[in-house]
Amino acid sequence: MSTVEEISSAAMDSLRARRPFLWLNPARRPAQEALRGAQPGADAIEAACARWQRFAPLLVKLFPETAASGGIIESDLIPVPSLRRALAGNAAAGAWFIKADHALPIAGSVKARGGIHEVLEFAEKLALEHGLIDRTSDASDYGALADPTARQLFARYTVAVGSTGNLGMSIGVIAAALGFRAQVHMSAEAKEWKKQRLRRHGVEVIEHAGDYGAAVEAGRRAAQADARAYFVDDERSLSLFLGYAVAASRLRDQLRQAAVAVGPQAPLFVYLPCGVGGAPSGIAFGLKQVFGDHVHCFFAEPTASPCVLAQMSQPGRPGITVYDLGLDNRTAADGLAVGRASELAVRVMTPLLSGIFTLDDDMLFRNLFLLHESEGIRIEPSAAAAIAGPAMLLDTPAGQQYLKENKLEQAMSSATHLLWTTGGLFVPDDEYEGFLARGRALA
Ligand SMILES: *Cc1c(COP(=O)(O)O)cnc(C)c1O
Repeated sequence: MSTVEEISSAAMDSLRARRPFLWLNPARRPAQEALRGAQPGADAIEAACARWQRFAPLLVKLFPETAASGGIIESDLIPVPSLRRALAGNAAAGAWFIKADHALPIAGSVKARGGIHEVLEFAEKLALEHGLIDRTSDASDYGALADPTARQLFARYTVAVGSTGNLGMSIGVIAAALGFRAQVHMSAEAKEWKKQRLRRHGVEVIEHAGDYGAAVEAGRRAAQADARAYFVDDERSLSLFLGYAVAASRLRDQLRQAAVAVGPQAPLFVYLPCGVGGAPSGIAFGLKQVFGDHVHCFFAEPTASPCVLAQMSQPGRPGITVYDLGLDNRTAADGLAVGRASELAVRVMTPLLSGIFTLDDDMLFRNLFLLHESEGIRIEPSAAAAIAGPAMLLDTPAGQQYLKENKLEQAMSSATHLLWTTGGLFVPDDEYEGFLARGRALA
């Protein structure tokens, strides 16, 4: 009796009722089959990797805080045994890690990966066109892009973006640092401290009534009217996607260094907070290229804003929004408050994603608090969405079904659970104290 129709109608009930649940993706196929001829391909990810390398000396010049890593923007892989004990008890099997994108420099969130990559790609294109570098340039020449000649060129161009906050922080800060005129279109509910931080960096903040989608639309229109404006389009950008995807090969190296095996008897489960879908899709796509069927990627969305789940579970309704389901898109997880999914993310992830789970704000705050208590790690509410991942997999009927169908039950003692904490570094102290207090009251 369990046809795909029935499953999706049960899922629909949970979605509409704002009940947290785990949805399993019925369209997932073996990785090798799904990746054959996939666009973008592995070559595009390698090209993005090489671009980061070329720009590393310039990043050290512009952002001295990246000197220790040689201008490579990467986060730590942190074992979190105390969090595991706090959430799953002493008997819990497998190893838990945090992938600490909450502490990424420059942007303080996962957006450092995609956003900075896209602005660097645009700067590189202009610099090539104007002969400031050439195709044979090595990284040492890229340092010259901090010189007045390059800055004068960049100053003639505007880089614009529409954002709830974190993407704007990433694009705005890197664009202004390179000398571009930087414009960030923000929705009215974007946090005041994020607007202030941008203005301090010389970014023009333009506020719009309405939600994130409205800010993106306004930014896109303004940029279209200006031939010297470059608009970073979070709903369809390939460059953002590739910037995120680079995370995968870096993680492979970190896992090796930590002596963590990934293979048939050692599955890797990765839990990724999801807004429009670009960041988690880029990362997951890269991970599937690296680890194939041995990595299992799950996205996490707020019950009020499950836009990627809404779209992936209803491929017959292109462009569906969370409002179409009667949801209000109101959540304290402002990085995830998105009403309509990225088409690119949905297209790429449909044959690769394991599933999506939803959470309410209380769960986010409780887990934010527990992470602080157990490990002393400080994240923002959006990032806390990842923390519920293991419980959603191990303690729900859908999760058990997944393990059974994929013959993973015997391998769980040597499984690795990776919680991708996507933001938090620049949250002001008083704001964070408020998050903690709310989580403490719920714990
Ligand atoms: C943007 C963001 C995400 C999700 O990225 P999308 O590309 O919007 O899916 C997750 N966490 C935080 C903190 C973010 O800022």
